[in-house]
Amino acid sequence: MIIVMKPKAKQESIDRVRAIIEEKGLYAHISAGHEVTIIGVVGDKTKLMDQNLEIYDEVDKIVAVTESYKLANKKFHPEPTQVKVGNITIGGDTMVIMSGPCAVENRQQLLTTAHAIKKAGAHILRGGAYKPRTSPYAFQGLEEEGLSYMKEAREETGLPVVCEVTSLDAIESAVKYVDMLQIGARNMQNFYLLKEAGKTGLPVLLKRGLSATIDEWLNAAEYIIAEGNPNVVLCERGIRTFETATRNTLDISAVPAIKSKSHLPIIVDPSHAAGVRAYVKSLSMAAVAAGADGLMIETHPDPSTALSDGPQSLTFDQFENLTGELGPLVKLLGKSL
Ligand code: PEP
Ligand code: MN
Repeated sequence: MIIVMKPKAKQESIDRVRAIIEEKGLYAHISAGHEVTIIGVVGDKTKLMDQNLEIYDEVDKIVAVTESYKLANKKFHPEPTQVKVGNITIGGDTMVIMSGPCAVENRQQLLTTAHAIKKAGAHILRGGAYKPRTSPYAFQGLEEEGLSYMKEAREETGLPVVCEVTSLDAIESAVKYVDMLQIGARNMQNFYLLKEAGKTGLPVLLKRGLSATIDEWLNAAEYIIAEGNPNVVLCERGIRTFETATRNTLDISAVPAIKSKSHLPIIVDPSHAAGVRAYVKSLSMAAVAAGADGLMIETHPDPSTALSDGPQSLTFDQFENLTGELGPLVKLLGKSL
């Protein structure tokens, strides 16, 4: 349920409504806009049945919210959310590019990549230190050693860093080294992990589950925000379909769908969607044109020797070529790279 106050409603009117909500043991989520303040009611709204809130001063209308997610819902929070990661803002005027290797393999590989992507215009360095691989025999990541290289790369380049976390132990280690936590597709509905990531207060990049609907994805975001952490960025990375020509199917419609249902920023990962290096540029262009707030692109000094996701990783030249070609499109949309 949301309560829309009349334009320019007085603070005392807003406070009165808030007090009624809180007296019933519910949470009032206040979203103060320039003109209109919206109060979202979180909790069992049947407890308000005996209250006719419409009679209170300066209450304009009461709107029922049918979706189960509230805090991630645009109806509760009409203004777009901007998420700060280090000195970078996602969801503002900058098309934020995250790039780096699928897995941190060694110090040299990561530092070389960090410098190369910075030179090509990337804003945030990505790198996996905990790799949730399909096969238990595949490279599983350098764990804390990998995180320490991420931190070093940030110190050398000034780029904020994001790393996937797959367990509580990984979260405990990662908070010491990184600027943003990533929850991967395979853990999108690991609700315990979502809550623990939310508690850290660090911004969280929440990837869409392999077969998750938009509704399930936004409910997953709700778990993080409900821990008092509003800094959630969504990442569309392709969903599982019958198609086998690509690793996944990039659901480009997720971008406008999320924009219409939620205030959270959304970026697109064309690398994991395509699984094929040659398709990454087209999908990046499509994502930017559809209104994404950023991109996540895998790069590697020598993709042919990569320990994971080599076939979809770009060389540094290919990445620089991509950012160069994105420039005019981003400008056309009134944003900057
Ligand atoms: C990744 O970003 O390296 C990754 C494993 O992605 P996803 O969770 O989308 O498969
Ligand atoms: Mn990968």
